[in-house]
Amino acid sequence: MDALPNRLEGKVAIVTGGASGIGESTVRLFVKYGAKVVIADIQDDLGVTLCNDLVSENVFYVHCDVTQESDVKNAVDTAVSMFGKLDIMFNNAGIPGNLDFKILESDNENFKRVFDVNTFGSFLGAKHAARVMIPAKRGVILFTSSVASVVSGESPHSYTVSKHAVVGLMKNLCVELGQYGIRVNCISPGSVSTPLLTNAMGLEKAAVDGILCASAVLNEVVPTAEDIGEAAVYLGSDASKFVSGINLVVDGGYSTTNPTYS
Ligand code: NAD
Repeated sequence: MDALPNRLEGKVAIVTGGASGIGESTVRLFVKYGAKVVIADIQDDLGVTLCNDLVSENVFYVHCDVTQESDVKNAVDTAVSMFGKLDIMFNNAGIPGNLDFKILESDNENFKRVFDVNTFGSFLGAKHAARVMIPAKRGVILFTSSVASVVSGESPHSYTVSKHAVVGLMKNLCVELGQYGIRVNCISPGSVSTPLLTNAMGLEKAAVDGILCASAVLNEVVPTAEDIGEAAVYLGSDASKFVSGINLVVDGGYSTTNPTYS
């Protein structure tokens, strides 16, 4: 029995990267808890399928490449025109990029591409959310960073830098936008089995789940995308109305115990 079934009732949200993985799970939870949601992604087939699956007039898909300002502007304007406002902007879209663990062998174009999607895309999402949230004097801006923002050596250079930068952006915006009643926070997931991770590891989901379960510190729990989505629900809801400027690490405690993540 869910103690707070309507915790997002009346909220309007955008989830970038909402067609897959953590974004998809978050969309499902947001709708379940009463929010109206615009899914913004570049995987149109998956986004439309998710909308159809949810069978709800409270969910809508827009094609949105987060690196394109016109697309991001359109996603925000769509939320406002369809649902009347924007309460929660979840800047979640991201890519892993190449496995550039060695700086002398790294590809400059890959670095720029990862930064473009993970960091600049988040910047554009926050910018256009702020455009409508500042006059409304309310709102929540969330980012998906990563444990790569708090531990070293675990992720490729481009990815690590892009995710640190997202935390820096979050902290600056927390200070800038607090005066307008806008809260700004990050979620930093540990590894969870999504297409991003299974593709990067070249393994099936069950195999990745097995690895994650075996390496978990929290009683061998298999981490899921829903576990990350629940953090977004909390930070998007009024239950966290005095929480701003945090990087909420959701990794079962792993990053506190092993700084090299190996
Ligand atoms: P995923 O691949 O399942 O989902 C990412 C989504 O982002 C996809 O639907 C993809 O189409 C979308 N996307 C990619 N580029 C885009 C663009 N330019 N514009 C709009 N959408 C775009 O992966 P996921 O694991 O759910 O990743 C979600 C977020 O979580 C990412 O920011 C990722 O870096 C972060 N993250 C994931 C893990 C993990 O272990 N899975 C760990 C830490 C952080």
